[in-house]
Amino acid sequence: MRNTVLSQVTGDVALDALLDSIVDAVILIDEGGIIRRFNKGAERIFGYGRDEALGRNVAMLMPAEHATRHDGYLAQYRETGEARIIGIGREVVARRKDGTELPVVLSVGVLEILGERFFVGNIHDLTVEARLRQLATVDQLTGAFNRGHCLELAAREFNRQRRHGGSIAVLLLDIDRFKSVNDTFGHATGDLALKGFTDACRGDLRDVDIFGRIGGEEFLLILPEADRTQAELVAERLRRATEDIVLPNPDGETFGFTVSIGIACVEPSDEAIENAIRRADAALYRAKAAGRNRVEFRAG
Ligand code: GH3
Ligand code: MG
Ligand code: MG
Repeated sequence: MRNTVLSQVTGDVALDALLDSIVDAVILIDEGGIIRRFNKGAERIFGYGRDEALGRNVAMLMPAEHATRHDGYLAQYRETGEARIIGIGREVVARRKDGTELPVVLSVGVLEILGERFFVGNIHDLTVEARLRQLATVDQLTGAFNRGHCLELAAREFNRQRRHGGSIAVLLLDIDRFKSVNDTFGHATGDLALKGFTDACRGDLRDVDIFGRIGGEEFLLILPEADRTQAELVAERLRRATEDIVLPNPDGETFGFTVSIGIACVEPSDEAIENAIRRADAALYRAKAAGRNRVEFRAG
């Protein structure tokens, strides 16, 4: 019976041609999760040949943590008709034959033929989109958010706070006497220092914190739900973590550097996040003037 039903789906040459003409991957599985149809788009995205894929469990196209749960999802759907992704496109991670992972949008439709049910997955490769998004939002040297994206996220956080209340702390971090790092060891070593600084900071921050490179050696850090005391604790931690960075210089020796940090908190009278950033900048200026490697706060 199964083969008869399936021939309705796969035996038609025109249907094969139609499916192969679709740019996205189209994969048809039966209720047991077994791949019964695998178009050219799927071959391209996943790196499996059609003959390799047919008859195998679709879980092989998922990262291990999803793969182990997939049979359970199918069983749940058979029993309850409840599905997590039927009819909706959602961003998930897929796995190629060579084990590498890629971001995709997966939409699943249900196909019933002569009483037998199949699932049709449409998989759109997001690799290019993800790369473009990454290029548009991330500073390529350090991996921190770039200036534009960082300020956009900061403005979004400001608007969110205006609607829901809460506090926001704004920190400006500027590496001390960075010009002399470049002048002494060269630009490539300066770049290494910027990367080392970013890694040290990001290693110490929460996912909700917004950390971006907004100038050559100047960084903006937004701490949602943080008041002055919490911000000063974070800043002091980052200042010390920077002191602890040890990097190789071109002469085979090591060097270090320090950072100055200005803090401000968003005040009720602020019209935009830029008001608080300006106060943080004034605090940073004070930290520099007072000898550098310091944290200063500027009230509203
Ligand atoms: P201060 O303590 O007052 O902040 O002194 P500074 O030397 O850090 O400040 P200044 O603004 O005079 O110099 C910043 C230097 O940062 C100048 C520039 O060569 C360097 N710089 C900016 N962007 C980059 C970059 O992408 N890579 C490298 N290696 N250096 C950079
Ligand atoms: Mg500097
Ligand atoms: Mg600077």
